Amino acid sequence: MPRAHAPDDTSQTAAAPDAAAMLASASSVEACVQGLYVHVPFCAHRCHYCDFFTVAGRDDQRRAFAQRLLGEADVVLPRIPPGIRTVFVGGGTPTHLPPSVLATLLTGLRERLAAGGHRIEEWTLEANPDTVSDETAAVLAEAGVTRVSLGAQSFDPPALQMLERRHDPANVGQAMERLRRVGITDLSVDLIFAVPELKDPVEVWARDLDMALALDPTHLSCYGLTYEAGTPLRRRLDVGRIERVGEEVEADLYECARVRLEAAGFEHYEISNWARPGFRCRHNLVYWTNGNWWPLGPSASGHVEGWRWRNLPRLGPYLAGAGLPHIDSVEHLDDDGRAGEMLMLGLRLMDGVPRDRVTAACQTPERGATRTTAIEGALEAGLLQWRGDWLSLSHRGVLVADAVIGDLL
Ligand code: SF4
Repeated sequence: MPRAHAPDDTSQTAAAPDAAAMLASASSVEACVQGLYVHVPFCAHRCHYCDFFTVAGRDDQRRAFAQRLLGEADVVLPRIPPGIRTVFVGGGTPTHLPPSVLATLLTGLRERLAAGGHRIEEWTLEANPDTVSDETAAVLAEAGVTRVSLGAQSFDPPALQMLERRHDPANVGQAMERLRRVGITDLSVDLIFAVPELKDPVEVWARDLDMALALDPTHLSCYGLTYEAGTPLRRRLDVGRIERVGEEVEADLYECARVRLEAAGFEHYEISNWARPGFRCRHNLVYWTNGNWWPLGPSASGHVEGWRWRNLPRLGPYLAGAGLPHIDSVEHLDDDGRAGEMLMLGLRLMDGVPRDRVTAACQTPERGATRTTAIEGALEAGLLQWRGDWLSLSHRGVLVADAVIGDLL
């Protein structure tokens, strides 16, 4: 599934407030919670590159999970002032829930949001291509889902095998057809490049892009494969059983995506995301513009006015509890930390960050001077650029974005 979930790099602090304290701050009208993230952790199988909180082999808990999550929503949603405009149901594999359970969960959420006066303008749900039956598609349409993000990852059987993805490449087009038939036409496709041990990664990637474009999605997310600590894939890398694709080849693959997708009329609006005009993911834009969103479900991360937290990533305690879940880690950013984070997230966007916000971030007492120096250095090196009154990563800067942005925190 996509790697675009809410940031969850929170760190534990001694006097961590609980979810009730977060809710109290979210209840203030000023806070304006704009998005809701819902984490459904169930998967048919755990892919060996995945480091999201997922559970496989616990299918008997799916119905109880839906009820538990609605119980959490019962406590949260009446307290949040009307203002939620986007919902993102991710995972895990939300479509691994049986249609009747999915219907209970989504309809229950929709009713609770409506009762709270929230007018949802974009409702995204992540799906694996082999889990979108006609019945599931009908449930999504009936529940008001407006956008589906499909975890295609590749159309190349050896690449899918290397990723331990079990679907057939043909399932992607079949799923899109079923969704379009029920009226869900805002469809995003996720792809992964730099998969190791392929005979010709450049040719495979070019074909993947062409096949995705042939399905006419509104949005594409392209991620370079990452080797996250603790995953089986990382262990295979560490013991030398696989060899990662070289940095130069990876840069070529990224460039290939940039050229092909732009030629096909897609706007490159975030480092890893391209959209047809008018189809940017509004929910993810809440993350990248440092907006406020509330998390529901185990391991879901949230942010309200400088508070970032993550719910405990464990299914058992979640199901055994009621109302608000336990929080695993929480962090409160001061003004200086928020300025750094604004730059870190804002520079992921191709539009960049407006001059007045850059100026403010360069005037904070602690890191302001260091940031000014780092920005000047990156401008001189051609990694950052001013376009009018917006500071953004240059063409070259995008390729080393983590290093450039890391210096500005
Ligand atoms: S289906 Fe997606 S969320 Fe589930 S294990 Fe595989 S990559 Fe992770």
